[in-house]
Amino acid sequence: MINTEYYKDLTKMNTFGMKVKARCFVEYDSVADLVDIEFGELSRPVLHIGGGSNLLFTEDFKGTVLHSKIEFMEILDKCDNVSDAQVLVSVGAGVAFDDFCDWAAKEGLWGTENLSYIPGEVGASAVQNIGAYGVEVKDIIHTVYCYDTLEEEFVSFSVAECGYGYRDSVFKKSGFKGRYIVTHVVFALSREPKPVLDYGHLKEAVLSSYEGGTDMEKVLDHLTPEMIRKVIIRIRKEKLPDPSDMGSAGSFFKNPVISREHFLRIEAAAKAEHGTDFKVPHYDLPDGYVKVPAAWMIEECGWKGRRSGGAAVYEKQPLVIVNYTGNAYPEEITGLEKRIVASVMDRFGVELHPEVEHIPQ
Ligand SMILES: Cc1cc2nc3c(=O)[nH]c(=O)nc-3n(C[C@H](O)[C@H](O)[C@H](O)COP(=O)(O)OP(=O)(O)OC[C@H]3O[C@@H](n4cnc5c(N)ncnc54)[C@H](O)[C@@H]3O)c2cc1C
Repeated sequence: MINTEYYKDLTKMNTFGMKVKARCFVEYDSVADLVDIEFGELSRPVLHIGGGSNLLFTEDFKGTVLHSKIEFMEILDKCDNVSDAQVLVSVGAGVAFDDFCDWAAKEGLWGTENLSYIPGEVGASAVQNIGAYGVEVKDIIHTVYCYDTLEEEFVSFSVAECGYGYRDSVFKKSGFKGRYIVTHVVFALSREPKPVLDYGHLKEAVLSSYEGGTDMEKVLDHLTPEMIRKVIIRIRKEKLPDPSDMGSAGSFFKNPVISREHFLRIEAAAKAEHGTDFKVPHYDLPDGYVKVPAAWMIEECGWKGRRSGGAAVYEKQPLVIVNYTGNAYPEEITGLEKRIVASVMDRFGVELHPEVEHIPQ
């Protein structure tokens, strides 16, 4: 069924809680519905949204917002090149990604547990290549099914064809973005235990949550996807604002990548200020470049917890800008964004780029 509304209030359809309207809003609940939508006739621009958890609407949307309510989840029959331990699950684009994680963990299927509690829907997960705690969704994607709005046909992309990178995919590239609508995704989960615990202090957190002792061998024998999921949900709730309590779009900025010389200059200045034992957090990249956490830079510039009108930098995680009052105007969010970008540039000579997609861009 296709449902069309005009001047639709999007406040509850974007986790930032921006009070904006879409001139036209089209929601559909089956793959077949897409054939009936006259894409050439829709008022432009056209934007397909999921849960609106990576978007910042800066004004009313002048064109058409599309949304999928394709909400099935089914285990597929075995096919070639899939091992006995693997289970293929086909999931509709409109399913909340965490509902899928919850279902998989309860079924005892491995693969989604580290991605628990990430807001948003399955369709966007395959666009964004969502990731957390050492796992990216590309690690469990088998095939992404789409509707090609240009050729008006259904197509599929194997995981290799999706061009996945850090929070990136072919679906974000020009020529693809806006053309392909993800209808459903087939995931390859595993019945064999595949815990990924190397990220940060996850292993310690899982160990300490196990009531039968802290012997790693013993814990591994009893570990289930549900146990890891519970630990991850607890950690995420401690660190990140829950969109139902306080609006945000998660990490607002990407972590910048800079040259080693540039990093050494930043490190020398930080040691001069904080003492010679001070360590600047960073990750060395294979090509000689260095990734520096934007959160550290923002905190060093004194932004953590600071408010500006209805917007604020989240007190527990400076990478997150929040709609602090629940009534923040888009200009208050973007105003704060601009001031953070300017001060990080001023202090470190590094340009921060948003992870969040501004609509319109
Ligand atoms: C509190 C919080 C914590 C977060 N933590 C994480 C995290 O740990 N890791 C992480 O990776 N992300 C995180 N995010 C960001 C966000 O949850 C992800 O980017 C998520 O995948 C966005 O999903 P969505 O359904 O809300 O998509 P939207 O924000 O609505 O859209 C995102 C993009 O996908 C496109 N899109 C949506 N649906 C479709 C479709 N069916 N077909 C084609 N294109 C489509 C949109 O056009 C847009 O370009 C977090 C966000 C919040 C608010």
